[in-house]
Amino acid sequence: MSTAVQDIRDRFAQAPDNQATEIERVFALQQKRALTLRTSTAAERIAKIKRLKQALLDRTEEIHEACYKDFRKPPAEVDMTEIMPVVMEANDAIRHTKRWMKPMKVPTTLAMLGTKAHVRYEPKGVSLIVSPWNYPVNLTFSPLVSALAAGNTAILKPSEMTPHCSQLMEDMVREVFDESEIAVFQGAVETSQNLLDKPFDHIFFTGSPAVGKIIMGAAAKHLTSVTLELGGKSPVIVDKSADLDKAARAVAWGKFFNNGQTCIAPDLTYVHADVKDEFVEAIKQRLETMYGSLESIESNADYARIVNNKHYKRIKHLLDDAQSRGAKVLAGGQHDDAQDFLAPTLLTDIEPDAEIMQEEIFGPLMPIMTFKDTREVIDDINSRPKPLALYVFGKDNAFVDRVIGGTSAGGTAINTVMMQYLHGNLPFGGVNNSGIGMAHGHWGFKSFSHERGIVRDRFSSTHLMHPPYTPFTRKLINWTIKYFV
Ligand code: NAD
Repeated sequence: MSTAVQDIRDRFAQAPDNQATEIERVFALQQKRALTLRTSTAAERIAKIKRLKQALLDRTEEIHEACYKDFRKPPAEVDMTEIMPVVMEANDAIRHTKRWMKPMKVPTTLAMLGTKAHVRYEPKGVSLIVSPWNYPVNLTFSPLVSALAAGNTAILKPSEMTPHCSQLMEDMVREVFDESEIAVFQGAVETSQNLLDKPFDHIFFTGSPAVGKIIMGAAAKHLTSVTLELGGKSPVIVDKSADLDKAARAVAWGKFFNNGQTCIAPDLTYVHADVKDEFVEAIKQRLETMYGSLESIESNADYARIVNNKHYKRIKHLLDDAQSRGAKVLAGGQHDDAQDFLAPTLLTDIEPDAEIMQEEIFGPLMPIMTFKDTREVIDDINSRPKPLALYVFGKDNAFVDRVIGGTSAGGTAINTVMMQYLHGNLPFGGVNNSGIGMAHGHWGFKSFSHERGIVRDRFSSTHLMHPPYTPFTRKLINWTIKYFV
């Protein structure tokens, strides 16, 4: 990690002296502005989303540079995972915000005869978006698109670990928006804490389950609603009926893309014992196809880096701990402490107590376990916190259905990986430990909207059931219970 990057990170570790006051000032401005945005039109919201999208497209080169400086992210991966998802999100919102905003009419129930009702989607108000470093631009600006579509103001708190990306986003936001609508505050824990003191109307947090709990605790003080996009150990189950080349192609890509630093990366891989050797060979071949020889991968520009030395040490420790308990390295294992570099590494024979089996890996280590009985895998997955993603590979549909039916996960892809994230018409989110609430498209819009139920009385007769409770009133209540509800 270059000293320049470390210097900027150190600078952001402590919030500037006047930051709390600045937060106070901008929050007050946004609270005022949020009231007027309650009646904002679809056209006004779409115009803002278009400005954000254009700023992103105008600054593509700078985003490439910032991501490279922060963790040597290859430009192709920046295009695919930072630019493309935000543009997709923006295009979806540009096309559909008008329809999403339309009040939803609901049918009149028998007991409510004589009334009319609808659901109105109103902006929640002032929102806070706290984002992680692993897809810094995407995970800050994609939720911002949803916040804008829903008519909110927003304060963004990007990660201190990717300072070049955070600075660039701050510059872009200043250029495109007034701070009374959208503002950025950079910094680490102290900055988050200063922000979390404020009574936001919604908090959209993406990050680890551990920090998710802190965010939810802080939100509870103001009873602020939350969307928590968290992480965990996403399992992959490869049946003997699977197309092994296809499975290896998907898993090797999904695992080592962004150097394994993806919330929905395959974490634990369970392979049917009958096909384990063939699967491992297929993965090795895919690694060679993607990155050439693992011996020289350190100089390969298509392979991103672990974000910093702290995370490098954490991941290297997982490897050392697994090996000290007898795990075998089937491929990879090369490392360079000075460069925070760790090659794609396949591991087998791992003790269940090894730390790599307990915590989210978030790096280029791939533990491979075998199974014979599907029940064993399902039980193992169910003994762990519910994952953000679960992947299943097999041509045997009964096997696939059994795995999906027997488990719970935020989302699932069959015979592929990660596509549940990129699919524009699916909700994206976790369940319990891997998250609360949903993002993307219409679901993102709803996360930032309050669904207000509105009923209008025209000629209902519910007043006939008001006191005094005469024999007639009681009869009417009983009839209503019997025939109308
Ligand atoms: P993190 O939880 O450490 O940090 C996320 C954000 O929270 C950062 O902006 C950070 O400054 C802030 N933060 C850190 N500690 C805080 C505290 N004590 N109080 C308040 N704010 C605090 O996560 P990370 O290391 O940046 O990202 C990796 C994690 O994020 C992984 O667990 C990964 O699975 C998860 N993730 C989830 C998704 C998703 O969409 N579900 C996407 C990307 C990453």
